Amino acid sequence: MLYKNILWAALTLFCITLIFSFLFNTPAKLESMTINQLVTKINSGEVQKISVQENNLNIELKDGTKVVAKKEAEVSLSQTLYNYGVKSSELQKVSMEITDESSSKFWMSILIPTLLPLIIIIGVFWYISKQAKAGASQAFSFGKSNLKLFGSFKDRVTFKDVAGLKEAKQELEEVVDFLKNPKKFLEIGARIPRGLLLMGAPGTGKTLLARAVAGESGVPFFYISASEFVEMFVGVGAARTRDVFQTAKRAAPSILFIDEIDAVGRERGTGMGGGHDEREQTLNQILTEMDGFERDSRVIVIAATNRPDILDRALLRPGRFDRRVVLDLPDLNDREAILKIHAKEKPLEKSVDLRKIAVRTPGFSGADLANLMNEAAILAARTNKKIVSQDDIYLSIEKVILGPEKRSRLISKKEKEITAYHEAGHALLAASLKNSDPVHKVSIIGRGRVGGFTMKLPLEENHLTTKSQFLADLTVLMGGYVAEKEIFGEMSTGASSDLKEATKLARSLVTQFGMSEKMGPMTFGDTQEMVFLGKEISTEKNYSEKIAAEIDSEVKIFIDLAHKTAQKIIGSRKKVLDAIANALTEKETLEQEDFNAILKPFNLKQVGV
Ligand code: ADP
Ligand code: MG
Ligand code: ZN
Repeated sequence: MLYKNILWAALTLFCITLIFSFLFNTPAKLESMTINQLVTKINSGEVQKISVQENNLNIELKDGTKVVAKKEAEVSLSQTLYNYGVKSSELQKVSMEITDESSSKFWMSILIPTLLPLIIIIGVFWYISKQAKAGASQAFSFGKSNLKLFGSFKDRVTFKDVAGLKEAKQELEEVVDFLKNPKKFLEIGARIPRGLLLMGAPGTGKTLLARAVAGESGVPFFYISASEFVEMFVGVGAARTRDVFQTAKRAAPSILFIDEIDAVGRERGTGMGGGHDEREQTLNQILTEMDGFERDSRVIVIAATNRPDILDRALLRPGRFDRRVVLDLPDLNDREAILKIHAKEKPLEKSVDLRKIAVRTPGFSGADLANLMNEAAILAARTNKKIVSQDDIYLSIEKVILGPEKRSRLISKKEKEITAYHEAGHALLAASLKNSDPVHKVSIIGRGRVGGFTMKLPLEENHLTTKSQFLADLTVLMGGYVAEKEIFGEMSTGASSDLKEATKLARSLVTQFGMSEKMGPMTFGDTQEMVFLGKEISTEKNYSEKIAAEIDSEVKIFIDLAHKTAQKIIGSRKKVLDAIANALTEKETLEQEDFNAILKPFNLKQVGV
C-alpha cells in the first residue's frame, strides 16, 4: 500500500515537472542570436520590435520571425547596443518595450519548483496518515458490538411456540410484566431483578425462550453471543461490553440477552496461558456494568448457559444474575407437545401417533425433537411421498441417535452372524432380567460407528436409577460378549466398547454413587475440569493407594457378578438365543412385536409388555 502511494507520488511529480519544463522553457524553442548579430540586424533595419524582460530580449523581425537574445545583466539595453555600435538612427526605428518580469509568473517560477515537492510530500503524508487513521478507527469499531436488535423478525416467536418449560416461562412472564408495569413493583418496594440466568442442556430451548420474551415483551430486545465479546484484540472485549450495556440502557426499558455466557463467565483465575486476561476483563466489565444499573433502571439482562457449574461465583451473586431458571430435558408430555409444535407445518398421515414417538425418545432435547421431525420429512420426501408416516419418524429416531444407516456396507456372512448373536445376547438378557428396561427394537444394520443395536426403553420416565437397575444394565452390557464367546468360542472387537462402558459404569457405581457395600456411602475422586478444553479430563485422586486398590477390586466384583449372571442366563436359554439370532440374520431388524413373538414359544415374556 505504502509502495503504491510512493509510486503514485513519483509519477505525479514527474508529470508536473514535464508540464513546467514545457511552460517555462518555450523560449528555448526559438532561435537565439548574439548581441553582435542583433546590432547588425538593427543597423540593416530588419528589426521591428524588441521587448525586454530582465536580461531576455524577445526580438521580432520585420519578416515576422521571432528570435531571442540575452543582454548583459546590470547594464541597460541601449547602453549595451551602443557599446556594440548600433546606429542611433536605426535604433529609433525599432519599437522598444520594456516589460517587468510578470510578477505572478515570476513568483510561480520561483515558488513552484521549491514548494511543489513540499506540497506533494505533505500530500503523501496526509494521505498515508488518513489511511492509518481509517485503519485505527476500524480497530476502534471492533469495540462496537454486533449487537442485534430483535423484534422486527418475520418469524416472531411467542410463548406459544415453546412447549413445556413451565417454570421458566412463568419466571420470564414475570420479567415481561415488570418491564411493562414497573410501578406496581417499585411502589411495593420490590427490587427489580437485574439478571436472569437460563441454565439447561444444549437444545433445551434457552435461546428460543429468550426470543419468545422478545416477542412478548414489546420492548427492545438486544441479543449478543458472549463469544462475540471476546475478540483477539486486547481490551476490546471490555470496550464492547461497555458499548452493549450503554446501547441497552439508552433504549430502556429493554432486555439484553447474552447467549452462551460461559464463554466469558468461566471462573476466573483457573486458566493457564494467555487469552484469559481478555476473558476476565470482559467478565469484570459485565459485572461492573450490572452493578452500575440504578435501582430503577429498566434493563434486564438475561443470560443463557449450558455450563452453570463453571460460571464464576461473582456472576451468581445477588444483584447480578440472582434469578436462575433451570430448563430440564423435556418429559414425556413435553416431548409430545414439542413434537406437535414441530409437526405443524408438516403433513402427517392420519395414523401418526406422536405420543408413541415421545415414548421412544427419552433423553431427547427440544432441538433433537425438532431435528427428528425434520429428518422424518426429509426421509418422506426422499421416497417421493407427500405425507410423513409413523415409520418415517421411527426410522429418523435411530438416525438421530446413531447416525445414518449403513445398508451399503458389505459385511461377510460370518460377520453378520457374529453381529446377530451379539445383539441377540443383549436382547435376551434385557428380556430376561426383571430390572432391565424392555427391548423396543433390535437391529444388525450398522449405523454410524456401531455394527448393530438393541434399543431398550423405560416403561415410564424415571429420574432416579436404583442399584438393581444399574446391575441389570451392567449384565445386559455383558450380553454381547458372553453370546459371542458361547457360540464362537472367542470374542470380537465388536464387544470391546460394551466392556469399556460396563467398566465405566461399574466404576461410577463404586466411586460416585456409593453403591458398593464394602466402600460405604461415600464418593471418591474429585473431577477437575480443564478450563481450556471445557471437558472433564482429569480426576484428582483424593484417596490413598490402598483405597484405590480396594476400589479396583470392588469394580471387578461388580463386573464379575454381571458376567456370571449373563453366562448363566445365556447358557440356560441357548435355544432362545439361536432363535433371536436367526430371526435377526434373516430380517436384520426386529420391532418389539416381532421380538415378543420369538420369545413366546419359550414361555418368556418381557416385563411390562
Ligand atoms: P439452546 O438451549 O441450546 O439455546 P435452542 O433454544 O437454540 O436451544 O433450541 C434449538 C431448537 O430446538 C429451537 O429452535 C426449537 O426449534 C427447538 N426447541 C427446543 N426446545 C423447545 C421447546 N421447549 N419447544 C419447542 N421447540 C423447542
Ligand atoms: Mg442457544
Ligand atoms: Zn454390544
